[in-house]
Amino acid sequence: MDLLKKIDSSNIFLGDQVFMKSEYLIHPFISGNKYRKLKYNVLEAKKNKQTKLLTFGGAYSNHIAATAYAGEAFGFKTIGIIRGDELKGEIATNPTLKFANSCGMRFKFISREDYRKKTELDFIDKLRSEFGDFYLIPEGGTNSLAVKGCEEILTKNDQDFDFICCCVGTGGTISGLINASASHQKILGFPALKGDFLREDIRKFATNNNWDLITDYHFGGYGKIKPELITFINKFKKEHNIPLDPVYTGKMMYGVFDLLDKGCFSENSKILVIHTGGLQGISGMNIKLKQKGLPIIE
Ligand SMILES: *Cc1c(COP(=O)(O)O)cnc(C)c1O
Repeated sequence: MDLLKKIDSSNIFLGDQVFMKSEYLIHPFISGNKYRKLKYNVLEAKKNKQTKLLTFGGAYSNHIAATAYAGEAFGFKTIGIIRGDELKGEIATNPTLKFANSCGMRFKFISREDYRKKTELDFIDKLRSEFGDFYLIPEGGTNSLAVKGCEEILTKNDQDFDFICCCVGTGGTISGLINASASHQKILGFPALKGDFLREDIRKFATNNNWDLITDYHFGGYGKIKPELITFINKFKKEHNIPLDPVYTGKMMYGVFDLLDKGCFSENSKILVIHTGGLQGISGMNIKLKQKGLPIIE
């Protein structure tokens, strides 16, 4: 894997006005936007002669899986600070943790209360005294180098799209898209979680204001799912032969098609949706769905 190689994902025609940028095909484990976000951070860590990457995430986090894999691929030790100390015993049964562990990631499980301190200097200092020096990658991988990487998602060939739609978790990806867009384009973010703090976070990185958040499609919150979303994901895969993940891309695509149905996009506008990946999360979600007796993602 060569981080300096330029990657331009192809745009797939989905029908009518909609095209999809297939970022999910970049890599099976460092998928989609996580590749973009890690790229310049890995290069920076190498430049600084760091040997360890430390980051934060939940037990199903695409970012944890991607960082663990990238660490192994580029010769770093990795440490994952995981939200929820009840997960300690679940490394063998949780597909994301199991994968990260197989890539050599060391875990520290902490309570949700402690997890909230993840950006506090005191807390980071304590981690340094526990693990030694490390290159810190924030939760979800979002920092200015991550935004720089996400600016490479759009290319010159994408300038004739009127709308660019993406999922939003911590806001790094949409910030990169905003910075790389032309001013006649509108970037629409579909948050996968509830909460209004996101706009503020995006403003920290975004250099333009041609964007908006569509907050109606979080399906109850981060990692929450409803049967109609599963039905949609399975139907989409049958029709287009493209898998969607239940945490991010499934919700965004549901939202885009719902808005199209409601006539919210003018008929002659062209829409580009960014498939940011996240497919490693499907197996973990399916375990939870089975436990609840709900239909699974096929
Ligand atoms: C992490 C992730 C996102 C969220 O990206 P942010 O930069 O945190 O907003 C979106 N889609 C997928 C598939 C992800 O894994």
